[in-house]
Amino acid sequence: MTSKWKRSERVQIAVQKSGRLTEHSLALLTRCGLRLTQGADELLAVAENMPVDVLLVRDDEIPGLVREGACDLGIVGLNVAEEQRLGLESGQPAPGSIRSLAFGDCRLAMAYPRDGEAQKVSDLEGLRIASSYPRLTGRFLTESGVNAEVVPFSGAVELAPRLGRAEAICDLVSSGKTLAANQLREGETVLESRATLLLSPVELPAARKDWVDLLRRRMDGVMQAREAKYIMLHAPRAALPVIAELLPGSEAPTIMPLEGREDRVAVHAVCRESVFWETLEALKDAGASSVLVLPVEKMLE
Ligand code: ATP
Ligand code: ZN
Repeated sequence: MTSKWKRSERVQIAVQKSGRLTEHSLALLTRCGLRLTQGADELLAVAENMPVDVLLVRDDEIPGLVREGACDLGIVGLNVAEEQRLGLESGQPAPGSIRSLAFGDCRLAMAYPRDGEAQKVSDLEGLRIASSYPRLTGRFLTESGVNAEVVPFSGAVELAPRLGRAEAICDLVSSGKTLAANQLREGETVLESRATLLLSPVELPAARKDWVDLLRRRMDGVMQAREAKYIMLHAPRAALPVIAELLPGSEAPTIMPLEGREDRVAVHAVCRESVFWETLEALKDAGASSVLVLPVEKMLE
């Protein structure tokens, strides 16, 4: 089946092999219509139905693979992409971060030992900050006008203050539990991060570019569909202007007659924004009944 396409036509996508982004990345590709089968070496998943190969690698390798054109697309945390971008020499093309994906949310933040001498960035003059993101940390310190030493640290950064290696750290946080367990207090946010889609700066052969564009469009569709809901309800004809106003992020709703009812109509609409209980209650107060909210599976515009 895969022989239908020439090697040069096959799009290469780099995805984290095993970690926090893996499951969501593969689920996204599956929702884009890829039927993936994993090879015996587990480094490559081949799509049976499209000329697409998924390379499973360590997340830190992804920006480099995309930059060099070994992969056309990559899914990686913005934190990793930005740290590596800052390490490029001027004039060296960087992969374009072309779409934020709705997973892998975290922040790169400063954290201070609860009983330490430094409790905010301005206290750090002349002190040491341990981080696995030395360039982002360094940029933040410079922007804050603080002269301090960044100690590159891989692995358990939160241990650095206890080991006497630094007076503060700059690390990824999502819940903050790890910080609390190490008697650290979260400080300034250095970078808000999510998974991001990287596009290679290397020019693609036309055939492959078409497939890359198709995947990009499908990813847009998947992301939009995640929030989108299809709403169906019955409403008094007179209340239509109010009801249309209440439907979040919808354009023209479809209005249909109800058999034997002059005063009431059926309203169907796609809402692009989250539909909360408050919205449904407001619709009911405006006279709506039989309100149904359905998930949207796919969306193409
Ligand atoms: P690899 O073996 O691929 O190098 P890793 O240990 O560097 O894996 P993970 O811990 O799997 O990476 O994290 C991958 C990405 O997930 C991070 O770079 C970040 O963008 C995101 N992420 C989301 N929440 C967190 C968190 N609480 N801690 C660390 N990373 C997080
Ligand atoms: Zn990594």
